[in-house]
Amino acid sequence: MSVDYDDILARSIDEPAFSNGTEGDAWTAKWCCRCLRDAPFRNMGRGSGCPILLVTMMGRRPAELLDGPRDEQGRYSMADQYTCVEFRRPGGGGDGEPHPRPEPPGMDGLFPRPDRARRMYVQPDAVPTEVSVDA
Ligand code: SF4
Repeated sequence: MSVDYDDILARSIDEPAFSNGTEGDAWTAKWCCRCLRDAPFRNMGRGSGCPILLVTMMGRRPAELLDGPRDEQGRYSMADQYTCVEFRRPGGGGDGEPHPRPEPPGMDGLFPRPDRARRMYVQPDAVPTEVSVDA
């Protein structure tokens, strides 16, 4: 799945992803500084870097950043404030595209694997919207 800047910008929310630079630094240190999507730019200055991170730096919140774990009072760790659905962990290798883990040898999976192309980004504070469905 390619990550397109215009698409990410169009789907982003017009609010800052982070309250301040400390929050942003803590989060990017855990996620973006290890992510293969940004590695060519980060390590070699190639390309323009991760467009999701770029949109974040423009003071907007990309839809790819889903809320991370919260406690009963809604508090969160700065490093886990969001979960980036496009994160590519180091050591994952390959071409940057997701590769599902293989089933254990001699076993079938319990459930069919979802087609990654059908993923939906759900904002926790999204207002329900009625849509018409043509039968
Ligand atoms: S894909 Fe997500 S985790 Fe990776 S560099 Fe971009 S914003 Fe950071």
